[in-house]
Amino acid sequence: MGSNGNSNHVKVLVLGSGPAGLSAALYAARAELAPVVLTGMQLGGQAALTYTVENYPGFPEGVGGAQLGELFQKQAEHFGARVEFDNAHEVDLSHRPYKVTTDNGEYLADTLIITTGASSNQLGIPGENELTGRGVSYCATCDGWFFKDKKVVVVGGGDSALEEGLFITRYASSVTIIHRRAGLRASPLLQKRALEHPKVNFIWNTVVTEVLGTDKVEALRLKNVLTGEENILETDGVFIFIGHTPNTEMFKGQLEMDSLGYLKVDEKMQTSKPGIFAGGEVADPHFRQVVTSAGMGAAAAIQATRFLESEEK
Ligand code: NAP
Repeated sequence: MGSNGNSNHVKVLVLGSGPAGLSAALYAARAELAPVVLTGMQLGGQAALTYTVENYPGFPEGVGGAQLGELFQKQAEHFGARVEFDNAHEVDLSHRPYKVTTDNGEYLADTLIITTGASSNQLGIPGENELTGRGVSYCATCDGWFFKDKKVVVVGGGDSALEEGLFITRYASSVTIIHRRAGLRASPLLQKRALEHPKVNFIWNTVVTEVLGTDKVEALRLKNVLTGEENILETDGVFIFIGHTPNTEMFKGQLEMDSLGYLKVDEKMQTSKPGIFAGGEVADPHFRQVVTSAGMGAAAAIQATRFLESEEK
């Protein structure tokens, strides 16, 4: 069907397979709406790239991010959701049913639930793109292993920087966290763990202005933002965790967004178009937790169900 290039008309189409998308699929499936989930590029979303999720209720010992995604998927499929390994790249939201063009075909959807999440921000400095995959990384779970007994730098001062930095201490000989100011944004528990960790050290009030190296990362050019002083720090790798940008490019001009590109939703998760709902990080600049995304996805599916029911009356 969707995967063989034919048009495919569904009641509920979910774009994205992170916690929000798979929770939406679970709820829509239990409402017997036979939802189809288009996984996007990253099955399980950003959460699947996290080594351990320690703050999702029900798992007192923590749970692997990828494992949690698999459990979400299994539960949604158990009730009749269909998960397609496909990626939407164009939408026509001018009239219903809404048209979604994917890598493998085309869908017509009576309702859409957008849970396309967010992607890692880049520093935008010389050497960053050129050396991505050669020492520059945005995913500790994916690449940490390559830095066994090596020196690694982490950029950022939020939860991601500290959590991923602590994870890399499993492999690296040292982890230097470089932050642009003197105060961390991360939660107190992560701050305590990082500040007390023997392999972790911090460089404050400093930005990275260039990634240096020919075939692989060899060093970073740093600049102290208070004094303007520059120096070179030798390192084998640099992990960049400086926030995210919502994946809303294909909805530009069709759905209302805020100034940062997050989809605007009302208190019932409805976007600016009828029958189009959104949840998770694509519509959430504030909380961005697995549990809040799952909740938003469930709420979006409940509303999609009510929307379809109201049309049947
Ligand atoms: P974040 O909270 O937005 O933090 C981004 C960090 O990068 C900030 O410290 C920021 O500095 C810094 N930064 C931003 N742009 C920069 C630039 N151009 N150059 C240098 N530094 C830059 O992003 P996040 O850490 O990815 O977290 C995203 C959300 O997920 C948050 O809500 C977080 O709580 C959540 N999260 C939670 C957990 C958990 O609960 N275990 C784990 C991961 C993420 P400033 O502080 O100066 O702005």
